[in-house]
Amino acid sequence: MVKAIDHYVNGRRVAGNGGREAPVFDPATGERTGTVPLASTAEVAGVVAAAKAAFPGWAATTPLRRARILNRFLRILEERAGELAAAITAEHGKVLSDALGEVQRGMEVVEFATGIPQLLKGEVTENVGTRVDSHSMRQPLGVVAGITPFNFPAMVPMWMFPVALACGNCFVLKPSERDPSASLLIADWLTEAGLPAGVFNVVHGDKEAVDALLIDPDVQAISFVGSTPIARYIYATAAAHGKRAQALGGAKNHMIVMPDADLDQAVDALMGAAYGSAGERCMAISVAVPVGEETADALVAKLEPRVRALKIGPGTDPEAEMGPLVTRQHLDRVRGYVDAGVAEGAELVVDGRGFKMQGYEDGYFIGGTLFDRVTTDMKIYREEIFGPVLSVARADSFETAARWINEHEFGNGTAIFTRDGDAAREFAHQIQVGMVGVNVPIPVPMAFHSFGGWKASLFGDHHMHGPEGVRFYTRLKTITSRWPTGIRAGADFVMPTMK
Ligand code: NAD
Repeated sequence: MVKAIDHYVNGRRVAGNGGREAPVFDPATGERTGTVPLASTAEVAGVVAAAKAAFPGWAATTPLRRARILNRFLRILEERAGELAAAITAEHGKVLSDALGEVQRGMEVVEFATGIPQLLKGEVTENVGTRVDSHSMRQPLGVVAGITPFNFPAMVPMWMFPVALACGNCFVLKPSERDPSASLLIADWLTEAGLPAGVFNVVHGDKEAVDALLIDPDVQAISFVGSTPIARYIYATAAAHGKRAQALGGAKNHMIVMPDADLDQAVDALMGAAYGSAGERCMAISVAVPVGEETADALVAKLEPRVRALKIGPGTDPEAEMGPLVTRQHLDRVRGYVDAGVAEGAELVVDGRGFKMQGYEDGYFIGGTLFDRVTTDMKIYREEIFGPVLSVARADSFETAARWINEHEFGNGTAIFTRDGDAAREFAHQIQVGMVGVNVPIPVPMAFHSFGGWKASLFGDHHMHGPEGVRFYTRLKTITSRWPTGIRAGADFVMPTMK
């Protein structure tokens, strides 16, 4: 059965009427399971209007009442995490345990957002001048929009909307058209938790819908997560239309393995970080950088059998460690990168291209792939593959390894595995990357810190969630007041200075 997927506007599901639509597939079987509407510019304007109408009431709702609604939403998520995870697996393909992990990390942002009243407190200075006081407050922006990628259909929206809503904004989510169903469960459950109609809306679509959000004068801010070329476009276009924007892009995360590292620990870390979620994570490790030939030989010798033994299967198989890729086009793209690596002379240690999943011949499966002797001029080193392909780039020293990372276009995440505190400290200090792990392969900050990369991995100046998220979704206002007798002395025509 092919299900029709709805938008979510003004507290209920509504069918699309823009005339265009796109198919949604189960990546494990290759079967078409749904049809997602692609909103027209006029439909997007209607959704934004609904959010705008809801804004005055929501902004006037006390921060504590807003937080209580999010608290109820959190309890619903706790009870139904399995249902949300199943919806993710059905359209994304990742294994169920990983989908549950994604839901858990998203829930942590909701949990953080329930404490946001604490962060909305302003500052007060008594007597900035004689009998003059100053105080500041943070106010919501209005209607804000989130445009999200396929790889975390629940968690990435949850990096955004819990913080935006807790701060008093109304939200329009434009999820990935490849796995749109999770967003509707979220919308239903927010309404069930007591969120007023119009405060959270979902509009499906592609470039037309995104462009409509970018130019709509009633949208105050855009949060984006996706690939770098689109992130760059979103940031520039939003800014040109006077909007605040944070646009997170692609990644090529390196993990340095120092000669003194615990190699078994490093191999375990690399297996999860490179092949988990079939490498479709912006914090996946896609380049391992062993320092010294001896370290490199030992690392590759330990990795090879582990990559060959990866348990691959449909996301619903509890034994599976890795599921299929998201679409047939993406599968072809990842295969193309493996071809390119071979053509450029990298040493293909494990070739996943021939992998076939018995009983799932039409699914978008590829086996784990391992390249050795990858050099920094190769396409497979420079570009983001976003698949289960790990490159080993052998460095002669720590300095070379760190230089490669600093010279790379992307700067999302990175890690070092070592027992040497001095090397780890030096690494954390000089590396040009936003999120750094020391013996931690995927250093995703917790909800009460903020998530974001550097360089071509983030355009804008605010990271997501945590205190940075609160700053992004609020405007600062500073009030200077003198009363009740302060103006009796008459007008003052000189520049105000402290008296
Ligand atoms: P994508 O850039 O193709 O799509 C992201 C969003 O942009 C989707 O909602 C899509 O509909 C929309 N979009 C696509 N093309 C567009 C266009 N031409 N104009 C306007 N909007 C457009 O990304 P994806 O394939 O869904 O996700 C994978 C990418 O996301 C990877 O590059 C990955 O590294 C990145 N990502 C980054 C982070 C991070 O935190 N930096 C997190 C997750 C994913």
